[in-house]
Amino acid sequence: MDFEPTLDFARRMDADDPLAAYRDHFHIPKTADGAECLYFTGNSLGLQPKATREYVLEELEDWARLGVEGHFHARHPWMPYHEFLTGQTARLVGARPVEVVVMNSLTVNLHLMMVSFYRPTPDRHRIVLEAHAFPSDRYAAASQIRFHGYDPSEALVELAPRPGEDTLRTEDIEAFLEREGESVALVLLGGVNYYTGQAFDLERITRAAHAQGCVVGFDLAHAAGNLALRLHDDGPDFAVWCSYKYLNAGPGSLAGCFVHERHARAFDLPRFAGWWGHDKATRFQMPETFTPMPGAEGWQLSNPPILPLAALRASMDLFDAVGMTRLREKSVRLTGYLAYLLERRVPDRVRIITPADPAQRGAQLSLRVAGGRDAFERLTAAGVVCDWREPDALRVAPVPFYNTFTDVYRFVEMLRNV
Ligand SMILES: *Cc1c(COP(=O)(O)O)cnc(C)c1O
Repeated sequence: MDFEPTLDFARRMDADDPLAAYRDHFHIPKTADGAECLYFTGNSLGLQPKATREYVLEELEDWARLGVEGHFHARHPWMPYHEFLTGQTARLVGARPVEVVVMNSLTVNLHLMMVSFYRPTPDRHRIVLEAHAFPSDRYAAASQIRFHGYDPSEALVELAPRPGEDTLRTEDIEAFLEREGESVALVLLGGVNYYTGQAFDLERITRAAHAQGCVVGFDLAHAAGNLALRLHDDGPDFAVWCSYKYLNAGPGSLAGCFVHERHARAFDLPRFAGWWGHDKATRFQMPETFTPMPGAEGWQLSNPPILPLAALRASMDLFDAVGMTRLREKSVRLTGYLAYLLERRVPDRVRIITPADPAQRGAQLSLRVAGGRDAFERLTAAGVVCDWREPDALRVAPVPFYNTFTDVYRFVEMLRNV
């Protein structure tokens, strides 16, 4: 791409950006003196769409007006409320409607999925994670291993980059699976690693794991709303993600879950059951025996909280209006511009650990910066919102919905000055 390292150029990119108007659909946090922050933390907590208030207020009003009748007579009835999100969620992650559901939080969904899909035997009980996986995933996997009576020190395998390299090579994952896949029950990788920003090749990893008879699950916390996913075609057995990062649904909002269609009617899979996963035709006859709904909905436990679902719907309506293809196109340019400026303007003080290939990253770049934590603190004092992850990564995520090329330009100039 023909970039130029000037403010004029950044402004021209913004003027030509077909998605530029969407920034105004979000509340941009301000510094103490009232200026808009340079917000690069949409990978950690996405910004609030201005429409969210209206969507949540609608439910508060209907609750006040109708009480329990809101289950059937709210403007968006609560009884089927999660179904309003099904089509949008399926389009977002490239799935069929039967494959997705919004429920619980991410780590809860991860456990529910492992209950059904981590079925260890003495010969095949290992779980493979990437090194530097998000701690919650590691804790969840280790606790499942212990729950089944195995020892995580032997059964939890963490694939690390080659010495001197920062990220994993797909061919090394494939080679490991070819070598040791027969002892692996579950391959559980992040779609995008939260620390390095590396996006994994979900299709190749799924193929390599399935060839060895392993189950494959992905944690898409940093991929949903960031990459143009094609979960159905890529073929993993399950996936989970949260909605408060790139999906802008607000702190702790509800998570997503994907179960591949091939398991939609696998009613003999062990699963933890609750009434909301029961066949909805007979749910209110309160039968004694659990009959799961086909597809991902059959893993629901409880009737879902409507207020956070309303916030998620506000955000998903925006995603659906724009589409992941266009968001991703802008994202590749925006993050490409950030990488370009860092390499030209601060080459000796910053090293990008995220892969240079746009296909192997999303919005986020992880940087090793001269001055480390000190540089991060000075950026923060100057009104930049980015984050620091121990031991040594500054994470910066320009988000195509609300960040601009000018934001990116100003960030790199500030980094030059700290
Ligand atoms: C953000 C994140 C989580 C957080 O889990 P919650 O259950 O939503 O608190 C878990 N795993 C990964 C990979 C994450 O990025």
